[in-house]
Amino acid sequence: MLNIQRLRKDFPILEREIYGHQLVYFDNAATTQKPRCVIDVMTDEYLNVNANVHRGVHYLSQQATDLMEQARETVRRFINARSTSEVVFTRGTTESINLVASSFGQAFLDDGDEIIVSEMEHHSNIVPWQLLQSRKAIKLRVCPITDDGRLDMEAFVGLFNARTRLVAITAVSNVLGTVNPIEEIIVVAHAHQVPVLIDAAQAAPHQAIDVQALDCDFLAFSGHKVYGPTGIGVLYGKESLLEQMPPYMGGGEMIGKVSFEHTTWNQLPYKFEAGTPDYVATTGLARALDYVTAIGLPAIQAHEHDLTQYALRQLRQIPEMRIFGHPSPEAMGKDTQADGSAVISFLVGHIHHLDLGTLLDRLGIAVRTGHHCAEPLMHRLGIEGTVRTSFAFYNTIDEIDLFIAALQRVIKMF
Ligand code: PLP
Repeated sequence: MLNIQRLRKDFPILEREIYGHQLVYFDNAATTQKPRCVIDVMTDEYLNVNANVHRGVHYLSQQATDLMEQARETVRRFINARSTSEVVFTRGTTESINLVASSFGQAFLDDGDEIIVSEMEHHSNIVPWQLLQSRKAIKLRVCPITDDGRLDMEAFVGLFNARTRLVAITAVSNVLGTVNPIEEIIVVAHAHQVPVLIDAAQAAPHQAIDVQALDCDFLAFSGHKVYGPTGIGVLYGKESLLEQMPPYMGGGEMIGKVSFEHTTWNQLPYKFEAGTPDYVATTGLARALDYVTAIGLPAIQAHEHDLTQYALRQLRQIPEMRIFGHPSPEAMGKDTQADGSAVISFLVGHIHHLDLGTLLDRLGIAVRTGHHCAEPLMHRLGIEGTVRTSFAFYNTIDEIDLFIAALQRVIKMF
């Protein structure tokens, strides 16, 4: 059992009032709030250590470099990568996937090759592949979802052929909360000798990740969604693949030797880290991962599961409520895979999602509205957007009660 009231004290922002109401922050899938320890460790680095990494012989530069490399080791441990060579710092999930699209695309893809994605992908796992299409005539094969918002695994298996080169898929939908069976997906793909990229943006804050146990080939996540700072993220890649891929960007630190005639590349992971990295954010990210680990991801997951199930029960009692994803227990029978992540998307009658979100905000409830960077999924669902609540471990049942009361009040206005 987590002591939520004690943990909430780590997040000063949760004390804020919005329009005279206690803030209820239910936009955690967009970004999580930062605990004081993350803010403190970054402030301390700027106040006492700051110097550019990797290029200095002086004390501060070496200290900053040590902090950054310790952070890399913390990330390695967090995802159980074999080696820190497999941990590339990026600006976030988006940059990680763009890196793979560009470099893996250059090294391994030819005209006519195919990549499997799914209908529930975030734009970050669609558009990079489309950008690649301007350079190589690759095809995107899209795995459909079922009406209750799950991946159609039968269709998925049927998408493979001799031209399939990569599966790029999200572990958890940022709209539906659907938790995809990534273990099974990886087994199926590997049986066809096809590598798998996992978009773990919505998984990393909620469930333990073990890249060796999963045997995924690439995995991407963002620091800011896992209680860390903005502007920092991770690409995990198997060393054997990263070694064969060309650099993504050119500049300082990613080089071995440079001349106007010929340049060689640095070793992994630096080959993929051109320019001055956000070395203060890496320290913040490491602190955030340690913080989450100390609380314990299984306890976090259990609490968020309780919150989600409680919210679903309350929401389902509201007339004209439409919840996307999260099939009801009756509909699912004994299928335990029905449990989704801590994200709930919904609409009420014909009320526009933007109106609902705006009025909820006036009552202190922060939710997200719109297409959630998943327009193809909106098309599949036949809607323009939803209201989305997304929970973190610092959220409480009391906050859900406040939200439901506010929602009922807003609905009455229409
Ligand atoms: N993938 C998923 C599933 C997401 O939910 C998000 C962000 O919402 C992203 C990718 C992009 O993450 P970022 O904007 O941090 O790069």
